[in-house]
Amino acid sequence: MNINSNYDNLEQSYLFSTISKKVSEYASQNSDKTIIKLGIGDVTLPLCKAVTEAMHKAVDEMGNQSTFRGYGPEQGYDFLRNAVKNYYKSHSVDLELDEIFISDGAKSDLGNILDLFSKENIVLVPDPVYPVYVDTNIMAGRSIKFINANGDNQFLPLPDENIKSDIIYICSPNNPTGAVYNKEQLKQWINYALKQKAVILFDSAYECFISDEKLPRSIYEIEGAKDCAIEFCSLSKTAGFTGTRCGYTIVPKNLGKLNKMWVRRQTTKFNGVPYIVQRGAEAVFSVEGQKEIKENIDYYKRNARLISDTLKECNIWHVGGKHSPYVWLRCPNNMNSWEFFEFLLKNIQIVGTPGSGFGKNGEGYFRLTSFGSYENTKEAMRRFEKLFK
Ligand code: PLP
Repeated sequence: MNINSNYDNLEQSYLFSTISKKVSEYASQNSDKTIIKLGIGDVTLPLCKAVTEAMHKAVDEMGNQSTFRGYGPEQGYDFLRNAVKNYYKSHSVDLELDEIFISDGAKSDLGNILDLFSKENIVLVPDPVYPVYVDTNIMAGRSIKFINANGDNQFLPLPDENIKSDIIYICSPNNPTGAVYNKEQLKQWINYALKQKAVILFDSAYECFISDEKLPRSIYEIEGAKDCAIEFCSLSKTAGFTGTRCGYTIVPKNLGKLNKMWVRRQTTKFNGVPYIVQRGAEAVFSVEGQKEIKENIDYYKRNARLISDTLKECNIWHVGGKHSPYVWLRCPNNMNSWEFFEFLLKNIQIVGTPGSGFGKNGEGYFRLTSFGSYENTKEAMRRFEKLFK
């Protein structure tokens, strides 16, 4: 056999393992110091009550002969697809049920969708961004062009008509920068994609953090998007499903064969999300569920606000935090990302994520997350003020 040699082209993913190695080394030599971690992109609050109650009920159904269920539909049960449809409707997007595909999370579908596209396609990826877009395309042997996101464009790059591309990635609100595109900016991307006959892969995993009605939560809020975009969303950050696993992908029928091809791909390679998880996911969209997850999101947003306000006080340039769990800051005193990481760890025992881990334009920047507890975030910001103000 021959292996897929494209894997040799992947860069080793050292970021989080290096962080944890450096943190444990420091901790073992400084056992008297309390380290606060503002680096991880995982949630910390538990599933809300509406979700766990629905899942308990579903467990009982599965243990009862008359209500037991075996294999479910690969695209998800209609009860959940309907809940997603109504959710979109609540922000003025009309979808048909068979445009909605339930998945075990956005990461899997972002990788799996590439089955539908030829290897010859040129891929356009913003830099810095969630590393999965780059790595999945390297594995498939596709050539990648990068568009620069930087301080000059507030980390919201716009299309360049002179660059040819076939597959375009957009992540808004963005991981790691927290920057969010407005409708006019997304319209420019849609116009560009339509002209290029390209497809936009729109990652809206953090849409629930958007609180300004004017900012789009879905790309389909903008005219023309159904003719060129596939949208990926997830309950991971919305409702704490990082370990429970459920998401949804929208493949509009306007995209020609792609909707039917995705049905074929999913029915061949995927056997659906567990019934119990789908019942929990359905509960996220109930009135009670929406109220409860909003409390959790508000909790994280209060942390983000605190981080952002403190950085402002300390005169540290940053974006994000307002409509995102991430705050993206420029490292003070021209430090590079790893220098700043060491500096924070040694001086105030705060752990964040070096921006250089998300692409070359991330060098000199740093990501803090609001997914920790309020008490820890407050203490971390007190230390920041002491050091920088
Ligand atoms: N998309 C982005 C931008 C993310 O940051 C993440 C997770 O951190 C994901 C997708 C993955 O989501 P899921 O847990 O649904 O696989």
